[in-house]
Amino acid sequence: MMANSPGKPHPIGQFDTEDGFLVIGGVRLDRLAARVGRTPFYAYDRAHISRRIRQLKRSLPKNIHLHYAVKANPMPAVVGHIAPQVDGLDVASGREMNAALNAGMESALISFAGPGKSVTEIDQAVAAGITVNLESAVELGRVEKAGKRLSLRPRVAVRVNPDFSLRASGMHMGGGAQQFGIDAARVPEILDRIGRADLDFQGFHIFAGSQNLRADLLIEAQAKTVDLALALAKRAPGPVRHINIGGGFGIPYFPNDRSLDLRAVGRALAASRDRVEAALPQARLVVELGRYIVGEAGVYVCRVVDRKTSGGETFLVTDGGLHHHLAASGNFGQTIRRNYPLAIGNRMNEERRKTVNVVGPLCTPLDLLGSKVDLPPARVGDLVVVFQSGAYGKTASPTAFLSHPEPEEVLV
Ligand SMILES: *Cc1c(COP(=O)(O)O)cnc(C)c1O
Repeated sequence: MMANSPGKPHPIGQFDTEDGFLVIGGVRLDRLAARVGRTPFYAYDRAHISRRIRQLKRSLPKNIHLHYAVKANPMPAVVGHIAPQVDGLDVASGREMNAALNAGMESALISFAGPGKSVTEIDQAVAAGITVNLESAVELGRVEKAGKRLSLRPRVAVRVNPDFSLRASGMHMGGGAQQFGIDAARVPEILDRIGRADLDFQGFHIFAGSQNLRADLLIEAQAKTVDLALALAKRAPGPVRHINIGGGFGIPYFPNDRSLDLRAVGRALAASRDRVEAALPQARLVVELGRYIVGEAGVYVCRVVDRKTSGGETFLVTDGGLHHHLAASGNFGQTIRRNYPLAIGNRMNEERRKTVNVVGPLCTPLDLLGSKVDLPPARVGDLVVVFQSGAYGKTASPTAFLSHPEPEEVLV
């Protein structure tokens, strides 16, 4: 890996360059674009993903199980690449479940979360032997029925809506009124019902938030999560096999963002693991990460198709935009729009800078990839690269909006 060169935003420095071209997965960008056959496309670097997983395994204490949350990037090749390197997969739909099974992950190591699972999806999960994370009392009844229909004993875990949230998160997914999970106060009653039903109780799933860069806040939330799980475990209808404490590990997107202090998180997790091992010797402690595993390994590449000036500003019009990459346009979960790290992928050595706006082809001012961003002077035909695009990219974007073609995806 090339060291970050001064002046370059950190995410851009994570990739090599060759003769002024960005290199992804060992392939020069001009050659990669030719190989893909058209722009725009997403490219994911398999070595980068593997490196990140190795780094996680080094920093997290032994006996912490690492799961990948498939929804961050469900491209089958990506899931297939990650599956052999992690201890489990977490899915959020029937199709993600198929992607996880196709990737060769053992069904006992797959869990299925999400409110409003359909009866068909529940049947699929039960038939496959996947753990269903129960999100409501109604769902418990549906899983029980699925077990009777299929003459199987469904594996279930309880998704708990904790009575706290992960502060300073990009997205809160726990604490207060929530569509996720079962309120902590109601969980004992659900555990009693599981005990009376023909269900194979596995454990707890408690997810408090996403995209957090503050190790101190993550550590605090993880400790509270383990406290809650250990308290609820006293009412468990059988041995607790796993406690999934979610993830929330963030990646830096913007100039003042600092990378997460993974080692600090790892040290604190060792204490949590010890507490779990002492109280529940049969339970494994699981962290479930999506963005942190794939987010920095991916780029979105589009081509400059026009360059124009208006009101004294320069606009680079590209063939890609909001319909492919909603998050980079600032319309997916951000409160203040900021630019994702951008580069001209065929002018990486160019020192000159020009302040431009990078826009897409859609008829809406929201279709903005870069506002007043300093880039090398670009020409029609140049390749604009959006970094930090490996997670919540294509499948988190409204690809049908304005009926343009979908982006390609490659794992290099
Ligand atoms: C989305 C999700 C994750 C992954 O979150 P990241 O921020 O991508 O790491 C983990 N667990 C659950 C339950 C989720 O819904």
